[in-house]
Amino acid sequence: MRPAKLAPLFATVRALKGVGPKVEGLLNKLVAPRHEGAHARVVDLVWHLPVGVIDRAIAPRIAEAKIGELATLEVTVTEHRPGGGSKWRSRGPYRVLVEDESGGALQLVYFNADPTYIKRLLPLGSRRLISGKLESYDGWLQMPHPDHVMAIDSEDGAALPLHEPVYPLTAGLTNTTLRKAIANAIEQVPDLPEWIDTGFLAQTAWPRFGEAVARLHAPETEADLLPSALPRARLAYDELLANQLALAVIRARLKRRAGRRLAAQGKLRKAILAALPFSLTGAQKRALAEIDADLASPHRMLRLLQGDVGSGKTVVALLAMAAAVEAGLQGALMAPTEILARQHLQTISGFASSGFDAAAGLRIALLTGRERGRERAEIMEALKAGRIDILIGTHALFQEQIAFHDLGLVVIDEQHRFGVHQRLALQAKGAGTGAELLVMTATPIPRTLLLTSYGDMDVSRLDEKPPGRKPIATRTLPLERLAEVVSGIARAIAGGAQVYWVCPLVAESEVLDIAAAEARYAELRARFGESVGLVHGRLAGKDKDRVMAAFASGALSILVSTTVIEVGVDVPKASIMIIEHAERFGLAQLHQLRGRVGRGAQESSCILLYRQPLSETARERLNVMRRTEDGFVIAEEDLRLRGGGELLGTRQSGLPMFRVATLPEHQALLEAARDQARLTLGRDPELKGQGSEALRLLLYLFERDDAIKLMRAG
Ligand code: ADP
Ligand code: MG
Repeated sequence: MRPAKLAPLFATVRALKGVGPKVEGLLNKLVAPRHEGAHARVVDLVWHLPVGVIDRAIAPRIAEAKIGELATLEVTVTEHRPGGGSKWRSRGPYRVLVEDESGGALQLVYFNADPTYIKRLLPLGSRRLISGKLESYDGWLQMPHPDHVMAIDSEDGAALPLHEPVYPLTAGLTNTTLRKAIANAIEQVPDLPEWIDTGFLAQTAWPRFGEAVARLHAPETEADLLPSALPRARLAYDELLANQLALAVIRARLKRRAGRRLAAQGKLRKAILAALPFSLTGAQKRALAEIDADLASPHRMLRLLQGDVGSGKTVVALLAMAAAVEAGLQGALMAPTEILARQHLQTISGFASSGFDAAAGLRIALLTGRERGRERAEIMEALKAGRIDILIGTHALFQEQIAFHDLGLVVIDEQHRFGVHQRLALQAKGAGTGAELLVMTATPIPRTLLLTSYGDMDVSRLDEKPPGRKPIATRTLPLERLAEVVSGIARAIAGGAQVYWVCPLVAESEVLDIAAAEARYAELRARFGESVGLVHGRLAGKDKDRVMAAFASGALSILVSTTVIEVGVDVPKASIMIIEHAERFGLAQLHQLRGRVGRGAQESSCILLYRQPLSETARERLNVMRRTEDGFVIAEEDLRLRGGGELLGTRQSGLPMFRVATLPEHQALLEAARDQARLTLGRDPELKGQGSEALRLLLYLFERDDAIKLMRAG
């Protein structure tokens, strides 16, 4: 349960003064969390960072003020020049002449203003603080419609915002409205106990949390907007600390149970290796040696196997599980989707049963949400009795009362699908079984980000592709040239080629994505007939399989899909990848998608169709795709290009989304946060102590409370 203290922050923005249904709608668009149906909450406004600042610092003299810029001046009103008539809406503008102590003079210009109002605002001889943009007109310095006019020494003189934060906006929402909403949101920030070590706080000269939030939204100079500004640094640290604590909690739980020494003779593995139609790459051998060392040690394995699509992770997983099986234990392989789980089953049974007598070899079963009733009961019974060596499946593997006889190794193939939150839960489930843990990811995660996603896991990299892979010719084309692409495809499939056609990620809504895919499917079907298939996330499992199988068998030439094929599908004969609206995908995702082709012996190509005009970043992303196929290079570029604004890319990457922290700028803070997290949990692993109350609040504040649930689960 979230502490009551934080409740005001997690109320919807409607709770704020001045936010009615209309503004709420706009704020939902602008700051709501990115999952479907989410509402903007007060805390989302707190983390909506200014990107600019309007500086109304008072210029000492009119003579020094710059034309075209904002000026804030102390002046005396010397003359009124109503515009030609005494009536409101007369021909010329109403002008008010003012001067300052240096003798500099200036006209304030009002069009269509009520003269009575102006006379009251700027009485002759009065002293006023004025602020607005300076222009030059007819040799006169003038300020049309000043933003602010205030009596000097009056009460509201203090109310002139000398500096105004500028926020990213959405159509229909003004900066002023947003600024007020955010100011109200900040007032909801409760007084919180300090979670940063006093010594560290003193050393960094950081403000306290509440003050940091206030200052975050009150920048005075451009420097205040930098990641290094004190309030930003403090809040980034807080956020990173929450992230590192959550990861450290997982790690602590994983490590709590000692691992077992899995001593295998390697006979089973040798049999599998002998039957493989290829020999392992150097990288695969290295990764296996690292895994073996972990398995043989008394500590529990906690290893991340990183390797590009097609780098051969599945074989490594199989050989690792074979070691567990030979030691008399079971292995579990969990995939993010049903399609992938089935594919793993196919690949692995292909490898594992071809070389030796299946009865004496590996007994492999599949368990997804789809196996029901009798079938499911039988699998579960066999599993419990130890008659299944390797169970492959989706997250159903860790649901319900699925009991293993003796699970030795859990492999989680996340193929870049799970968010950090899900990952925490899944890894904990794997850990709850007491097994060794191998996580595989096809996301080439930049080193800077590894720590934020995986904490302190050990890492093996498959940085070498199996031999014989041909480069994928990658082209970028505007959508206007779709017809050419279709003709090109017609020629290619006449020659026997197979094509993936990935449809745009249009909206945050899966339903809309599917509609787009269906429309494209209908068009291609009209042209190519029965040889076109469609697959998307809402299809029933059996239908999905049928389409995938038809494509794999060559019965279908074109497979139209939403991004569901992103994950691991292996059809070596497919050689053409078309990605529509490529500008909407993040680099990591484009890379994943492209990796679906180029797996067979034939020449492969990838066409990235984009809609004009391209943003600068989108253009660069597409260029990166043309330039390189190296996942680790692409990942570094991704990080460089992503910046703060490219939310879509971030979300798609499956990497954690930070609100304040940016990497690599806050790398040093990340490391400091990791150290504090370790130290703290070393002292108080359940965060139950007096001193840890603040840290628990911190976890809730940054919505890393999965970690707290885990600690509860014991
Ligand atoms: P990943 O899961 O990393 O995307 P896979 O394990 O699915 O990659 O392997 C991709 C393809 O490469 C598979 O068809 C697999 O049989 C093949 N493969 C794996 N290792 C090698 C190797 N050392 N030499 C040749 N082919 C390999
Ligand atoms: Mg794979």
